[in-house]
Amino acid sequence: MSTTIAFIGLGHMGGPMAANLVRAGYRVTGFDLVPVAIEAGRTAGLSIAASAEDAVRDADVVITMLPGGEHVIGLYAGGLLAAARRPGTLFIDSSTIAVDDARTAHDLAVVAGHRGMDAPVSGGVVGAEAATLAFMVGGNDEDFAVALPILQAMGKRIVHCGGSGLGQAAKVCNNLILGISMIAVSEAFVLGERLGLSHEALYQVASNASGQCWALTTNCPVPGPVLTSPANNDYRPGFSGALMAKDLGLAEAAFALTGTDAKVGALASEIYRNFAAGDGAMQDFSAIINVIRAQNAEDAA
Ligand code: NAD
Repeated sequence: MSTTIAFIGLGHMGGPMAANLVRAGYRVTGFDLVPVAIEAGRTAGLSIAASAEDAVRDADVVITMLPGGEHVIGLYAGGLLAAARRPGTLFIDSSTIAVDDARTAHDLAVVAGHRGMDAPVSGGVVGAEAATLAFMVGGNDEDFAVALPILQAMGKRIVHCGGSGLGQAAKVCNNLILGISMIAVSEAFVLGERLGLSHEALYQVASNASGQCWALTTNCPVPGPVLTSPANNDYRPGFSGALMAKDLGLAEAAFALTGTDAKVGALASEIYRNFAAGDGAMQDFSAIINVIRAQNAEDAA
């Protein structure tokens, strides 16, 4: 394959995603700040550059997978866009960042004579390793056509959501549903416990009725009904409380950006923020049920 790809940010997600591009036959030059990520990239068959700027110099496509919007914009504005020698280089950002940061990143790319696209993912580290990620893409049709085969090498569901920023918009709306629905499922189990209803009975009813949702039937917050859910594994993530708190913080930023009144979303964001400030940061987000249960025990005392 003649497309040359630069991959910046070889962490939990970026490392296996870049490895899948190599597996698909792309020439990939990678860079990260952390030696262990660099070594893993080298082992996976990436060429490792001395800096992010060196990595992008001769790239046709640049993919970033970084912690947050400040990292993406900092890199773009700090010399990455200027270092790319090929006019019209396609900069795809797959990090989860705020919608307005994604639009800023896109505009910076265009002003520098390049092209920009947001393509955040869901599916976690397991999906990154298995090349089964879902990509939510914001960008124009022409750039989407260029990106599609590359994203297909890392994922199995690629949805073009619209113009710049709308990939991040889809991601933030999806995770708003997920965060709220996990609290709803957890409150229902805790209420059931207090009414004397077994987890199994509630699961049998709700999973086959209108309470059915991913938070219940895939990531069930109580041990037992769904054997593969993190609740059966000491709430090891999965999807961490820290990432849910981050994503609902981005939802709050989107409420402010658009003047949207979303009372339950704002409360869910506060609940996960408090959860992630303590032990919850490193636990699966479904461990929020333990906070709800403990709160009820405290209230009863
Ligand atoms: P991570 O912290 O493991 O990886 C980020 C990497 O970026 C790190 O290795 C870090 O060293 C590197 N980095 C930071 N600044 C850099 C710079 N200036 N130059 C080069 N490298 C730099 O995080 P992750 O779990 O891989 O997540 C990456 C993004 O994907 C985040 O935005 C996250 O919200 C999103 N995401 C994560 C998951 C998940 O389950 N981990 C799921 C969906 C989306």
